[in-house]
Amino acid sequence: MHEHPTQLAGALAAEERKLLACVHCGLCLEACPTYVHTGDENDGPRGRIYLMRAVEEERLSLDSPAFTRHIDRCLGCRACESACPAGVEYGQLLEAARADIAAGGRKLGWTSRALRLALRHVWSRPARLRLAFGLARLLRDSRLPHLLLASKLTKLLPATVELSLALLDSSRPARPSRSGDEGKSVAGGANARDVDSSALLFEGCVTEGLFARVNRATARVLGANGCRLSAPRGQVCCGALHAHAGDLEGARLLARRNVEAFRDEGGAAVVTNAGGCGAMLASYVHLLAGDAEYAEGARDFSARVRDVSQQLDATGLGRAGAPLEDVAVTYDASCHLLHGQKARTEPLRVLGAVGGVRLVPLEGSDVCCGGAGVYNLLEPALSARVLEEKLAHVRETGAEVLATGNPGCHMQLGAGARLAGLPLRVVHPVELLDESYRRAGLYDGARDES
Ligand code: SF4
Ligand code: SF4
Repeated sequence: MHEHPTQLAGALAAEERKLLACVHCGLCLEACPTYVHTGDENDGPRGRIYLMRAVEEERLSLDSPAFTRHIDRCLGCRACESACPAGVEYGQLLEAARADIAAGGRKLGWTSRALRLALRHVWSRPARLRLAFGLARLLRDSRLPHLLLASKLTKLLPATVELSLALLDSSRPARPSRSGDEGKSVAGGANARDVDSSALLFEGCVTEGLFARVNRATARVLGANGCRLSAPRGQVCCGALHAHAGDLEGARLLARRNVEAFRDEGGAAVVTNAGGCGAMLASYVHLLAGDAEYAEGARDFSARVRDVSQQLDATGLGRAGAPLEDVAVTYDASCHLLHGQKARTEPLRVLGAVGGVRLVPLEGSDVCCGGAGVYNLLEPALSARVLEEKLAHVRETGAEVLATGNPGCHMQLGAGARLAGLPLRVVHPVELLDESYRRAGLYDGARDES
């Protein structure tokens, strides 16, 4: 039996100390995309924290639209955390507020109801989730979404359906994948030479489902730099979508399974290439803090989580690839990679190691793209405004390639570019390094099990 005092006693009430840490200075406001776009104090971090305190002190009802509306409109990007001098852990407060709202049983729209059903009955069941992603890949690879979008017939469909098709289509590789990159496991980091360390790959459900090529590239690149990667069996979704939707219990169930799957006496790093997953995995220490059986395992697990760029920093980028053809690349930071995992410069160093890449700075690269999990489907109007501004900055760079380290951002930016008619190839930074290593022949003759 596991006990979950936070949900029983009210998740926000259990976080009172974190609520009181806010000194209302307002230094976070300009970092907050929803505040910047609406100009409404209640759509900024300080206002939302005021509202949370009002609910926690029972001055405002939990199901009051004055509360739920503004909590719903938060992207959960955590830019306010990086801006806050008082160290307010806003991301955890937001999850607590959403857990209390969900527990309050308010009436949901059809999109939220469908999401909740999918999280409970598909996302939490690995076999069903694999089947769902298999079907999604079939649809994507049939190129039907691409043809419908190109013909503009999607304009006759509801905007959410058109966006969903564009999101799926944007996960297609811009160039054909290496044979074997889709649908097979990492199986030992096949290309490791002079192996002097090993690490465990957290595959991630969306990454393994739609971007398996990024997992394979991660294994090849780390292998080439002396780090053998293996993917533990029994790992499941990280639970980020559950936590963001207020289902902390669902997130805890998944977290316990991952802590079990990644137990390692040698303390091997847990490597992820998805900013959203990485920040969630790093927060298991908090999520399972009240669980007598798992608290210690969660602390150990979270301390071992690294983004692939941070792991490459640790192993050292010892191998030189061949230059790509002269290409202008810009980088957009995944919010959770930046504000959750604090990986600001490491992804840029990965890109800097790729010859032929002209790195063009992106204005507002540390501002959310509006994807934010499924925010783009639940809050389409505000998401579209945030995305529009991002794409305007991307256009200004003149870059042909945009690199970003999270599948959600990849799909949001790719879909936005497709719908706006902007020619843009979206990649993970590690894919470019992988491409340069392949051109240099670093993988030739290596036993390739990927
Ligand atoms: S998480 Fe992002 S959108 Fe939400 S309050 Fe903080 S900065 Fe604003
Ligand atoms: S910067 Fe921090 S302390 Fe200041 S208002 Fe924002 S959350 Fe509160």
